[in-house]
Amino acid sequence: MKDTFFQEESEELRSEGCYREMRTVEGEQGSSVIMDGRRVVMLSSNNYLGLANHPRLKKASIDATLSYGTGSGASRLISGNMEIHQTLEKELAQFKGTERALLFNSGYQANIGAIPALAGEGDLILSDELNHASIIDGCRLSKATVRVYEHINMDALEGILKRSSKFKRRLIVTDSLFSMDGDIAPLPDIVGLAEKYSALVMIDDAHGTGVLGETGKGIIEHFGLWGKVPIQMGTLSKALGSFGAFIAGSQDLIDYLINKARSLIYTTSLPPSVCASSLAALKILEEKPQLIGQLRENSLYFRKGMKELSYPIPHGETPIIPLILGDPGRTMGMVRSLFDEGVFVQGIRPPTVPDGTSRLRITLMATHTKEELDLSLRAFEKIAKNGSQKK
Ligand code: PMP
Repeated sequence: MKDTFFQEESEELRSEGCYREMRTVEGEQGSSVIMDGRRVVMLSSNNYLGLANHPRLKKASIDATLSYGTGSGASRLISGNMEIHQTLEKELAQFKGTERALLFNSGYQANIGAIPALAGEGDLILSDELNHASIIDGCRLSKATVRVYEHINMDALEGILKRSSKFKRRLIVTDSLFSMDGDIAPLPDIVGLAEKYSALVMIDDAHGTGVLGETGKGIIEHFGLWGKVPIQMGTLSKALGSFGAFIAGSQDLIDYLINKARSLIYTTSLPPSVCASSLAALKILEEKPQLIGQLRENSLYFRKGMKELSYPIPHGETPIIPLILGDPGRTMGMVRSLFDEGVFVQGIRPPTVPDGTSRLRITLMATHTKEELDLSLRAFEKIAKNGSQKK
């Protein structure tokens, strides 16, 4: 393939305002970070509880490296199943209130491994239209029929379920806390429909874990739906400040996935250091559930501030706040203006979000100080006053 192919493709992305480049964080991930040599408030990280640079997580990962080495050497089913993987899985099952849990190397891998294992030829997957790309890719890898329902529209979901009797198995899959929109799936209704039409439910609790529920156990705790959702995916890389992911569920489910999930079977298992930092994060969450209260307080404070500035943010209470601007160029212009004012928020453009819904995805952290939040709100205020950026 000639280089010109890549250049032409990149040129097209540029002309659409959708060309992506990586920004570099110099030093640690915190509530503020160094970028381009200057300190800016970080309003774009999934490090919701600020654990990614917590001294106890650092120490746990160093200690585990000293005790167990740096790598696991093989996949779980060959010789890479170490004691620390099993200890972490036990703790995760307890945390999520399930019989068992199974580690995956990332949320992406959990979804692309579990979904094709759970639904195949002759089955039907029902997927929310705003589900994460890893769910979409999991659906694409599955041999099942996939039907996408309008975002959180329960009538649309039921409409598809009503006409699904010819399928052997029905699997409803949804983000819990939607990653780009910050709204929460109506899980009690989804569970009700699943019971009515004998469907399985899988939730992707990547952003709910450590965020939703009084003690951070996720969407199940948020709605009090213990025992009602058979397949729960969660990540260790976001609120828990570590890396990796897991599926929590019954003993039978986990035994089945061990045999069928290709992204588990054919990959080297997580290094011990990463498991140790996840274990430390779970312990901190248990000891200090107030972190979740702090995250909530910061989220509400920031949402209120943005509303007072008349920014059109949707109603909600979660730490993910979309500011939909529509046009990709306008969105990236606002990213630059905010950066000049000492605030980093990344712009999110198609294909991550639907055409015409480019946005700033603002995320709050429990460790943001009031000064950092006020500085950020002042930056938004200044931009609002200076004209065209505000919708
Ligand atoms: N699901 C959702 C809803 C996500 O937002 C993400 C990450 N952005 C993932 C899955 C993938 O998780 P990971 O980053 O661990 O691959």
